[in-house]
Amino acid sequence: MNPTCSPCTGQPSSDAFAHFARMIPNCLAYAREAKAQGRPIVGILCEFTPRELIMAAGIPDALGADVGRGAVPVCLCGGSAKTIPAAEQFLPTNLCPLIKSTFGYHVLKSNPFLEMADLIVAETTCDGKKKMYELMSDSRSMFVLELPQRADDSAGFDRWLAELARLKGHLEDHFHAPITAERLRAAISVMNHERHLRRQLASLMEAEQPPFTGRQLLDLRSSISGIPADFAQYEALHQRLSSASPPASNQKSVRVLLTGVPLVHGAERVLDLIESAGSNGSGGGAIVVAQESCSGLKPILEDVDASAADPLRAIGEKYYHLPCSVMTRNTRRLDSLRRLTAQYRPDCVIELIWQACLTYDVESHYVRRLAETELHVPYLRIETDYSPSDNARLTTRLEALYETVRQREPIPR
Ligand code: SF4
Ligand code: SF4
Repeated sequence: MNPTCSPCTGQPSSDAFAHFARMIPNCLAYAREAKAQGRPIVGILCEFTPRELIMAAGIPDALGADVGRGAVPVCLCGGSAKTIPAAEQFLPTNLCPLIKSTFGYHVLKSNPFLEMADLIVAETTCDGKKKMYELMSDSRSMFVLELPQRADDSAGFDRWLAELARLKGHLEDHFHAPITAERLRAAISVMNHERHLRRQLASLMEAEQPPFTGRQLLDLRSSISGIPADFAQYEALHQRLSSASPPASNQKSVRVLLTGVPLVHGAERVLDLIESAGSNGSGGGAIVVAQESCSGLKPILEDVDASAADPLRAIGEKYYHLPCSVMTRNTRRLDSLRRLTAQYRPDCVIELIWQACLTYDVESHYVRRLAETELHVPYLRIETDYSPSDNARLTTRLEALYETVRQREPIPR
């Protein structure tokens, strides 16, 4: 098999991990080819933005509902510490590194996806992001979705639906093509399939001896959704691993449920520290069995109802219920943590908060309480940024956590 297959052919390479190690070059090749075919590139910055609406946009009439010829949604979130100094010329130092890194790419014009984007769809989530978007929109074509933030309020949901209808109209005008119900249904089908494939792989972590690490699972992702070659890799890997024998090891790793902020591409440092701390070289350290964040399970746990009479409303429902800390109250996140604990049997919960992320920081009170008094597992809160300067300190805290876990009586689950 050819391990360097084209991202556009849909043919699996011999190793999905090798394929996704080239995720950025693969996505760049895909985006350039799409652009050359006249497909618009649309940058997104948050999991509240429905990729389905974007994929259903920009399709010439003659192509019917072929969303493989529609606009291409590309994640623009920054995971590099290197772009932060450029951002700090404009933004406060005391701001979330994810926001600063993303904006730094904008200042430096060094994110090729951002530079080729025909439109950026942003959203009003946390204060830092929405104010950063104001600066970015001075020189970029941007549409900002207003996200109502009371998760269980029906008037808020109606407002959200109106915002999605406004985005739909904007995409139709901007790319001179109608977004029909048929095209929305085709996009829903593609995104549901992608979520299904990623959930399937994530569920392999339920095993007593998971077939890969949390970091390897995190790497099985793409900045662009709906790429056929990625789907082929997900399928081939799942087929291979679900029929393989479990890895041999006589050392039990500490099972970790990681929750909190997203680990966007390039910002995986803390996950690496979690899985390397306490390891003696032949295992025995920790393994992140579930990631309750926007770079992990959070956006893929729920699908869009493909049979709904009104596909736009169905899209609205799935996205409005995303359990992000910007929503109030965000009890769905605690419910999700309960379900993931039952499914993945973690020995402890680690919460990651990017510095100056106030919503996740305040919400950590509830997560700690849930872990310690209801789930009965140790909890560790890590607040950090993209700099490796605290690696040694974090490793010491992680090793102390694992020691606590090992000294406890196992809890039957
Ligand atoms: S954590 Fe919240 S604000 Fe951040 S990407 Fe996810 S949904 Fe958007
Ligand atoms: S991690 Fe927090 S502060 Fe940073 S962009 Fe997400 S919600 Fe905003």
